[in-house]
Amino acid sequence: MATRISNAETQTEGKIPSSMRAVVYRGVNDLRLETVPVPAIGPGELLVKVATCGVCGTDLKKIHTGSHSAPRIFGHEMAGTIVQVGEGAADFQVGERVVVHHHVPCGECYYCRKQTFAQCSVYKKVGATAGFEPSGGGFAEYIRVMDWIVANRGVVRIPAGMPLEQAAFLEPVNTVLKAVKMLNLAADETVLVIGQGPIGVMLAALARRTGARVLTSDLYRERHAIAAEFGLTEPIDAGTENVVERVFAATDGRGADAVILAVGGTALIQTAMDAVRPGGKVMLFAQTQHEKANFDPGAVCMDEKTLLGSYSASAAILDEVTGLVLGGYRNGFDLTQLISHRFPLEQAVEAIEIASHPTAGSMKIMIEPVPGAGRE
Ligand SMILES: [Zn+2]
Ligand SMILES: [Zn+2]
Repeated sequence: MATRISNAETQTEGKIPSSMRAVVYRGVNDLRLETVPVPAIGPGELLVKVATCGVCGTDLKKIHTGSHSAPRIFGHEMAGTIVQVGEGAADFQVGERVVVHHHVPCGECYYCRKQTFAQCSVYKKVGATAGFEPSGGGFAEYIRVMDWIVANRGVVRIPAGMPLEQAAFLEPVNTVLKAVKMLNLAADETVLVIGQGPIGVMLAALARRTGARVLTSDLYRERHAIAAEFGLTEPIDAGTENVVERVFAATDGRGADAVILAVGGTALIQTAMDAVRPGGKVMLFAQTQHEKANFDPGAVCMDEKTLLGSYSASAAILDEVTGLVLGGYRNGFDLTQLISHRFPLEQAVEAIEIASHPTAGSMKIMIEPVPGAGRE
């Protein structure tokens, strides 16, 4: 039975241990399960016990490229329960189930006024940590949520009856909806989404909600079967079919009005540019590394094909995304269908390995510091 200790400064649910397990990034491709201190919180902050945390493509990039210094504790698609409330964070109570955004924009700078929140210098600061340089911290048992995240709508309550792991999709769905909105799709338009991993399926499902016709391509039949659960019924088998020809056949020979590339690297940029019609748009959604790529400048100038990108979440669509993810759970947008694996912290290294080498049977991978709690 949990006891509630309350004084003027902090509220605490039960007894919080002094140490916890966490997956610590110690260098390129070097993750270790370690025992670290449970982070202490200050005024205005929250301590959240992490139930589940999605493995994101950007976590993998950081782990495999060494883009960030070590040591760090990654993981940012997390949901859990508040176990301690710092002085002044009175809007929240111990025991509440929440999703934590690891960064929020300032709302006032030039970039925020232009609604390009991901470029805001405050947004680039990470405000959730399980220790070391703040890096999300979802791959640990407890996270400290800093005051500016708590004060600026970075903590979202999860209604009763909603599985925590559905709510953990708030951040990835936000990034996806932001990209789809940038394309201004219309009901008479056709979209091709290349790649049907979990992000590709979400992109395609939200593109379809605009009324547009959506074609999806992937190498794996198993992924097309999952996509079909989201109403995506025009799969292209990229292993045996010519994707560009299929798109032309579906569009009176014009090409797609928009192509969304949900596969990383540069190899498929040309395919995307070829599949889009003159005057159409190509959205790069998975190109998260700076590198050189070839493209035909005449396709951009003379054929008026627009090449654009989208990265990270938008504060402007928080409410819409919350409604979509929490309201959609029983209404055609059950994202837990995208989860193929759930691993305890002890198997996090294996989880990252599987996420890094997608196969026909792997989709969204969750790490559960409390095994089974994601489904509660
Ligand atoms: Zn993410
Ligand atoms: Zn700003």
